[in-house]
Order: sequence, then C-alpha cells, then structure tokens
Amino acid sequence: MRLLTTCLTLVLLLLASACQSDRVSPAPPAADLVLLNALVLNGLGAEAVRADVFITGDEIVFVGPSPLNSTELAAQVGRVIDAGGRILAPGFIDLHSHGDPLKTPAFENFLAMGVTTITLGQDGSSPEVPSLGQWLDAVSQAGIGPNLAMLVGHGTLRNLSGIRDAVEPEADDMERMLTLLDEELDACFGLSTGLEYHPGLYAQPAELQALAQVTGRRDRLIMSHLRNEDNDQMRASLDELLAQGKHSRVHVAHIKSVYGKGTEEADAILMQLHQARDAGVRVSADIYPYNASFAGISLLFPVWSKTTGQFEAALQNRRGELEEFLRKKIAKRNGPAATLLGTPPYTGKTLADLMAETGQPVEQVLIGIGPQGAAGAYFIMDETLQNRLLIDPLVSVASDGRLEGFHPRGHGTFARVIEEFVVKQSLLTLPEAIRKMTSQPASVLGISDRGVIKAGYKADLVLFDPARVKANATYPQPHQLADGFDLVVVNGQIARENGVLDSALHGQVLKP
Ligand SMILES: [Zn+2]
Repeated sequence: MRLLTTCLTLVLLLLASACQSDRVSPAPPAADLVLLNALVLNGLGAEAVRADVFITGDEIVFVGPSPLNSTELAAQVGRVIDAGGRILAPGFIDLHSHGDPLKTPAFENFLAMGVTTITLGQDGSSPEVPSLGQWLDAVSQAGIGPNLAMLVGHGTLRNLSGIRDAVEPEADDMERMLTLLDEELDACFGLSTGLEYHPGLYAQPAELQALAQVTGRRDRLIMSHLRNEDNDQMRASLDELLAQGKHSRVHVAHIKSVYGKGTEEADAILMQLHQARDAGVRVSADIYPYNASFAGISLLFPVWSKTTGQFEAALQNRRGELEEFLRKKIAKRNGPAATLLGTPPYTGKTLADLMAETGQPVEQVLIGIGPQGAAGAYFIMDETLQNRLLIDPLVSVASDGRLEGFHPRGHGTFARVIEEFVVKQSLLTLPEAIRKMTSQPASVLGISDRGVIKAGYKADLVLFDPARVKANATYPQPHQLADGFDLVVVNGQIARENGVLDSALHGQVLKP
C-alpha cells in the first residue's frame, strides 16, 4: 500500500511538472490561431525568446517550438500568422484611462497603441449610477473593444451617499458611503480618489482611513490622484496616501512633481515610496511619458472658487483676492504661454493667445472663462525629473488618456515609451518597458490571468517591430493613432490588424 502511494505521488509530481512546462509534449491540440516565429517577451522582464504561440478560444495554450509541421498547421489550425521575428508581447494594460464605453465602445485610440485592457472610473469619478455592477452589465451587453477593469470613484460615492461637499460627513451618510463602497467592490478592482478635485478635496484623514479599511478588507486597491502634486506639497500628499496603505494596497496615479526639477527631487519622491514599501506598505505608481498635464482649469482656481456657485460668490465678495491668486498661480506655472486650452471654443489656444486676442491680463481671461469653462494642457513638468520617475522599477506606464482628450497621451503613450525611451534614448530595455506595460499593471490591479505570455493565460497580445513603432499624436494634433502595432489580439480574437480595426468588439468586462 505504501509502495503504491509512493508510486502514485511520483506519477502525480511528474504530471504536475509536465503541466508547468510551456514545452509540453505530446503536441498541443489543434488551435484557432497560431503565431509562428515570434520573438516572445513574456511580460515579466525576461529577454525575448524565439517561439511559436498557440491560441485556442481566448487562451494561450502553448508557447514553444511548434510540434506541428506546416501541413499539419494548415490542416488543424484556423489561422496561422508568420510573425517573421517580430516582437510578440502581452497586450498592454492601461491603469489610468478615461472615456464612456456606452458612447464610444471601440476605443481604437487604445487598441492602436497596443492597449488591450483599460481602467476606468478614475480620479474619484465613476458613472453616477445606482449600481456599477448593472452599468458594467450594460457595457458588457453593448460590447467594448479592449477589456475593462473598473474602479469606483470616491467623489461619486460622496455624491450618491449625500455627503457631497461636507467636510465632516454626518455619521449615517458616512455609513451609507462605506456600505455603497463595499457593494461596488463586488464589481470593481478598487476605489479611485481625486483629492485635488471637488468633492474629494473635502475628505479628512478619518474618512480616508475608513475608506481604506473597507478597500483593504476586500483586498482591493486605492488609486489616487493626490491632493497636491506641487513639488513643495508632494511629500505630504504621498504621506496621506501611504497612511491609507496601512489598510489597503495604494497606488499613485500619474506621478509627477509640478515645478520640481532634476533627478534629486525625483529620487526624494522615489525614496519615500521605496521606504514605505520596505516597511510593508503595498504601494505602486504609474506615469505618462509627457511633460504637460491635462485637466479642467478649475485646477488653477483657489479651493473656494472651483465650482460655479463658489466662483459666482467669489466674484461678488473676493474678486481682488481671486485676481491676485490667479495672477500668481499662472506666474508660478511657467506663465500664460504654458497653458494650452483643449476644449471649444478655445481649442488650440494658449492663455497668452487669448490675452493678445482680448487685450486683457491673464486673470481677466481666466475669470472670463470661469473654473468650469475649459480644460487644458499645462507645461509644468521637468523632463529630467519625470524621466527619472518613469524608469524606476515601481512605476508602471499608464496613459491618463481619452479618445477625445486634447492631449497626445490618449493616442500616443505606449508607442512613445517604446519609440523615445527604448529605441531613441535607451533609457529602458525593451523587456523592462514591456514589463511596465503588462505584468506590472496586472499585478497592481490584482489580475492573475493576463499580462504574461504563458500557457493558461488569456490571449491578449501585440505583435510589433520596435523600430517601426511611432506615436504620431502631438499637442497640436493629439488624435493621430499610433503606428507599428501590426496585430492586436484581445481574448484570442484579432481586434486590429495592419491598421484595420475589426468591426466586432472583443473586449470583456473583467471581474476583480
Ligand atoms: Zn488625475
């Protein structure tokens, strides 16, 4: 009996080790799609390996030298594509995306730059609906181009629970918000906060702790647009997020230092993050590879005049103070030529252009537009500092982009990192850049079956020659699709091939 048990254990162990290998024989089953002769980057940072990749349904079933000859492939496989030595990587996972899938479900801007999963519900704001689970069902029913990971917005929860812009929420409203958060986390990967925006900016430490306890209990993530990204406020802003990290995984959205300069300032920020990690806080960050941010111009206005109502009151009671604030703010933000507006009727004009047009000083131009009247790109970041942040191993690549946004990041981010940081400047190796776009963001979200090329993982893939990858989007023309991602596969289906978008939508709403 003992001998039998030992033999059985041995057989099971052998079977298990055979299953773990990607080069299992006997031959893989007939596949729906095979990519032959690819240089496979697995997404985990390893060097590229020449291999053939077999896909059945929505899954990668085999990675290795094809056990089928060309006759067998032709007979047994739905479609065979010769990769011709191009790079095959996991589809990119964008941790920070914007858009309304019920209005623009195809999201070709993302697919064209190799993104196969987007993350919506950012900066404290998600659709203000009674149930995001039901909203996601509607998205799923209508179809979506890339996969979707959803976050629930803290500002939205404040509005739905009746707290709105209260600094000290009533106890029962607070309870309602926490219950709602807990319910929405059934369908969402985490909570997003936008502490620089209305109404998230009213949240105090006790509220942030309570939110983190719920999020942590559900093993979800808090993704935060920090309270203040100015270089003299970054430390305090990060500390506020890291305090939530006692309870929950935390993540810095679009990390930057506004007005900061040089590698030293970047290193100080990174040291704060790495020390927190060493102390057991599960913290991560993402970045976009551009030196201008993009947001509503309420960002330029003081906290007491961000909403239309507050603004009207400020004009009546504190006009002089408001004018002085705006004048100083713009001077600090590199002057009126460094704000490029991106919404009608001002699209493509800087504040300096509007000053010349109207003959008004900058504060009058801004008061004329109002805090809710426009959004724009702000050229307020230092390239040396931002590049240092981008290459840090803790930092993922994410776009913060949208289909209609007047900023090139929505159509260019992932292409630009390969074109600029890998090919032109050699600041990152290709395997490391790909890791920052695939397995790393997957682990930030807690997705365990995507972001890696391996048998058993979902077949989200991109095929490209790094030398031909081009981010065509620019500030004046931000809506030009990226080039060079010859094949984009979402859930085993070809979503885009040689610049042509498939008419069907192959994305899925992902479950946390
Ligand atoms: Zn943001």
